Amino acid sequence: MTEQLRPDGSLRHLLTLEGLPRPVLERLLERAQGFVRPLGAAAAQSQALAGRTVANLFTEPSTRTRVSFELAAKRLGAQVVNLEVQLSSRVKGESMLDTIYTLEALHVDAFVIRDAEVGVPGLVAANVAPHVAVLSAGEAHLAHPTQGLLDALTIQQKKPRLSGLAVAIVGDLRHSRVARSAWHALRTLGVSDVRLVGPPALQPPDEEFPGGTRYTDLAAGLEAADVIMMLRIQKERMAEADLPEARRYFAAWGLTPERLRLARPDAIVMHPQPMNRGIEIASEVADGPQSVIRDQVRNGVAVRMAVLAEVLAAREGA
Ligand code: ASP
Repeated sequence: MTEQLRPDGSLRHLLTLEGLPRPVLERLLERAQGFVRPLGAAAAQSQALAGRTVANLFTEPSTRTRVSFELAAKRLGAQVVNLEVQLSSRVKGESMLDTIYTLEALHVDAFVIRDAEVGVPGLVAANVAPHVAVLSAGEAHLAHPTQGLLDALTIQQKKPRLSGLAVAIVGDLRHSRVARSAWHALRTLGVSDVRLVGPPALQPPDEEFPGGTRYTDLAAGLEAADVIMMLRIQKERMAEADLPEARRYFAAWGLTPERLRLARPDAIVMHPQPMNRGIEIASEVADGPQSVIRDQVRNGVAVRMAVLAEVLAAREGA
């Protein structure tokens, strides 16, 4: 696997949170927190990345993540190009790297990549020039590292003592890159009670999430939880026949106000979006006082600023 850190410990690429040392995560979160401004205040801005160019290459649909990376780069003074190219090596073989080399020749300094196929961000990272950074914006079901960081930041803002928390990740764990990246972030940051809550068919393979407790009973999984992280049913990663029926899923697994009362009274509710209201979460909960879903969105820009600042600014004078 491509090395994500430079010899001096700074971040060169961000492909996965798995294996990143705790001080690196803590540094990125601290840096991100420095970019967070209250709603209504002007967004944080600087010219730290003036003269740099970031290319967003997204081959899976995205609204928040793409816009958030774009705003993050622009608020640091970088230029941004958005391309809809077909990256999958399965589809186009070598032409993916031709696209990358062309963009490199156009002075692109960082590639932000989302793709449904496993391995695409890593393959690009293994082939770019030494001064170029690759950031994953979602790799198949495997990794969504900036989402994991923004989730950790959101939790930390509301519950600063992470180690004692009970975090319930609820729903389609099997197909969720959000769950995997949150898992790596939370474990590395010292959260010991991470609950994997979902029906047997949506639980991840046994060897994944080692040390996480599996719950196939929603009430038990929510009991006295401090944080409830709801997941979207990843329809696009399921065969038609395996899709749960919406009404039945909500009846068994939807987060309703009544079920939310099983958690601690000050529990926070998260969702990476896009939300299926009335399937995995009731609108009253998504828009209710315990929801931090909009904080997640705001923190997403801050986290992406922190990551871009680190991978690109380290090149000063290179
Ligand atoms: N937006 C998140 C992702 O790209 C969550 C989701 O789509 O369910 O994985």
